[in-house]
Amino acid sequence: MFNLAHFSSKRAAVLGGGKSGQAVAQLLAAQGCEVLISDEGTVTLQTPSAQIAVESNGHTEQVFLADFIVKSPGIFPQSAVILKARELGIPVFSELEVALSFLPENVSILAVTGTNGKTTTTTLLGKILEKKFSRENFVSKVIVCGNIGNPVSNAVAQARPGDQMVIEVSSYQLEDSSYFHPQVAGLLNITPDHLDHHGGMKNYIAAKARIFKDQTPQDVAVLNAADAVCAQLAEGLKGQVLAFAAQPKHWLKSDVFYDGDELIFSQGARIRPPHLRGIHNIENAMAAALMGLAGGALPDDIQAAFDEFCAMEHRIEPVATVRGVQYINDSKATNLDSTVTALKSFEDTKRIWLILGGRDKGASYEVLLPYLKKHCKQVLTIGESMDKIERELKGGFPIVRCTTLERAVQYAHAHAQEGDLVLLSPACASFDQFKSFEQRGTCFKQLVAQLT
Ligand code: ADP
Repeated sequence: MFNLAHFSSKRAAVLGGGKSGQAVAQLLAAQGCEVLISDEGTVTLQTPSAQIAVESNGHTEQVFLADFIVKSPGIFPQSAVILKARELGIPVFSELEVALSFLPENVSILAVTGTNGKTTTTTLLGKILEKKFSRENFVSKVIVCGNIGNPVSNAVAQARPGDQMVIEVSSYQLEDSSYFHPQVAGLLNITPDHLDHHGGMKNYIAAKARIFKDQTPQDVAVLNAADAVCAQLAEGLKGQVLAFAAQPKHWLKSDVFYDGDELIFSQGARIRPPHLRGIHNIENAMAAALMGLAGGALPDDIQAAFDEFCAMEHRIEPVATVRGVQYINDSKATNLDSTVTALKSFEDTKRIWLILGGRDKGASYEVLLPYLKKHCKQVLTIGESMDKIERELKGGFPIVRCTTLERAVQYAHAHAQEGDLVLLSPACASFDQFKSFEQRGTCFKQLVAQLT
């Protein structure tokens, strides 16, 4: 366990100089540690400090002079640098757990994980708890952080006793955690993703399950009753299990249902879901609501938060309608499952021009075929994965090779008819042509804006 008193003023090596690496380095420097940030790529320190040194383009022997190492989530656990540190007996801690050791007493943690829906659910839960605090008092607050783009290491400084912290946690962060203990933990779903990093589905599930490992009977575990893996995991949990089911078929007794109009809770409350497209967002809303209730919110807080909620950027986000054709940005769909989810959220009128492709993630595009046939007119391919997509769809569906997002948008604009829909939901990572899925989505929106 990372003991702040023991490690303050010691030498630290932070592996990975991204946002969270830099944030944890600042925290440790403020504790009197001498910090080295070491990264395989280039690091530009956002806030220079006399106590923080940087090495770019690879880890050198300097790393092993440290008294302890902090690992950013992206670093592969079996990488040479981690293996050597362990061999030398240098303690290795995760950024998440080091950051949490800076939390004052009496700050409760609500953590959200899952393959898909984390950011939406985390954001919804944050809004629900904001409503709760503004009803109760204006002294305490909710802090939303983690994988959502606000490193926990940045957020801990704002925390005061009585606050609540909503943390989005990825499988990478959980894999590194040995004593992470959220009082309320939510697992939305588990489907294959990041399998090369984790070394298979079994390890991926084990990483996700760590969110519940240190829970006690006073804690609450929120799970998706319609997800077979979640249902299996529910069996051995120590906390109180609350389950949600948006689909008729489910394996666990559910504490909330959807009647096509409202969320109906077993304790009696009825809440209208937020105005978001797709049954997946009903699941996200249910999870956020159950976690909110467990965190002390009332049904009215949840309703108020849901009523105000709008579509999230890059997640089935309506962009514009040009000459009767609607453009939708789902750049966040970086795996096949998300693209299937997006397609399922539209009616099956075969009017979608789907922009697909980017950096391949290993799974087969064949799973898309039934959904393409049901919902799409044409697939427009972009990026590195074009050949693989063509091979795997094997002539089963009309494909136009567009190579770039710009050409795909132009092609769709030239050929789509009034009432059609152009959907960027690439099922791939963005890194072959863009810096991030955000940049890809923003580029799509700019290209659409140029059409108008
Ligand atoms: P994450 O943070 O886990 O990547 P997001 O909330 O950012 O999840 O949503 C990303 C994409 O994942 C969405 O655009 C949608 O296609 C899909 N998605 C969101 N919620 C769910 C869900 N509950 N089940 C399946 N897919 C979902």
